[in-house]
Amino acid sequence: MHLGRGPGGPGDPVNPSVVMSSTFHQGGANPYGRDGNPTWEALEEVIGGLEGGEALVFASGMAAIAAELETLPVGAPVVVAGDAYSGTRRFLTDVAGRGRLRFQTVDVADTSATLAACSGPHGLLWLESPTNPLLAVADLPALIAGARERGWNVAVDNTFSTPLLQRPLDFGADVVVHSATKWLSGHSDVVLGAAVTRSEEVVAALRNRRSLHGAVAGPWEAWLTLRGVRTLAVRLDRAQANAAELARRLDAHASVTRVRYPGLENDPGHERAAAQMRGFGAMLAFEVRGGAPEAERVATATRLATAATSLGGVETLIERRGRWQGEEALPPNLLRVSVGIEDVEDLWADLDAAIRAGTASA
Ligand SMILES: *Cc1c(COP(=O)(O)O)cnc(C)c1O
Repeated sequence: MHLGRGPGGPGDPVNPSVVMSSTFHQGGANPYGRDGNPTWEALEEVIGGLEGGEALVFASGMAAIAAELETLPVGAPVVVAGDAYSGTRRFLTDVAGRGRLRFQTVDVADTSATLAACSGPHGLLWLESPTNPLLAVADLPALIAGARERGWNVAVDNTFSTPLLQRPLDFGADVVVHSATKWLSGHSDVVLGAAVTRSEEVVAALRNRRSLHGAVAGPWEAWLTLRGVRTLAVRLDRAQANAAELARRLDAHASVTRVRYPGLENDPGHERAAAQMRGFGAMLAFEVRGGAPEAERVATATRLATAATSLGGVETLIERRGRWQGEEALPPNLLRVSVGIEDVEDLWADLDAAIRAGTASA
């Protein structure tokens, strides 16, 4: 709430201003708007403070992910969660197809299989936990320590959890990336990304990639994210409480065949999540009776929850992830919900009615 504001003297504005300038008077630290901007720096102070490292903001989550992967030497091996963010997997498929990197997918909930895949020098283990959209929980402390023992570096996409629920740098990860488009900005009105690290070498490499690729954030987007992130704690508390209640009720619903939410005691990731997270988050997924048509009908029958992709905003979003290219391996009847901060009874009435209507013929 208070980072990124400077000490402030009498009469100074409490909030940093949005600095709309492509160039700066010579002689200062920032020569040019593709290399730095005071609004980015205010946001970097906040995100860096939350994750416990030095942050750099990027044009999008994918820009931060691409910058990190582009720092790897040609031919480097990458081991990645099989249900990691689809854009990350598409990026890896693209660069692997051109011989730039090699990659292998693993089930990150399986610690020994994941570590067994980390063999050979100069590799990168790419983790997400909980994963998107299956909500599998990886044993972050064990995987990070094991990979580093093998001489591998570890990157964690912490978009789903946010630094309020887990801080991968504290477990020894080399770099954390964020789609700040999601929980950090929190209002579905910004596309922005960030990378955070404790290594000066990594900061320098990422800063260089950011300037060379030109994948820079607009100052206005950075300012909106700065504004949004100040309420992250209260948004997440409310969304998380809603998610826990909805998960419990969905689990008992006659037309729901499976609920995935690490906060449920019967969830396979529950114990791990309880050990390494300060809360179970506000993302959940459930499978409805029937197949893809029934799930599509449920998603589009909701009136309060919006049928749309993305996550982390104040409003509840629902989608059938299997409708996307590259997501064919997912259960076709799986719906992912990004739970918002609406009244939980309103949300339940909406979901319950949509599930009944959508699965009536199944
Ligand atoms: C959305 C998302 C991304 C990509 O971020 P953009 O801001 O859309 O580029 C990366 N990882 C996860 C987990 C995401 O949900």
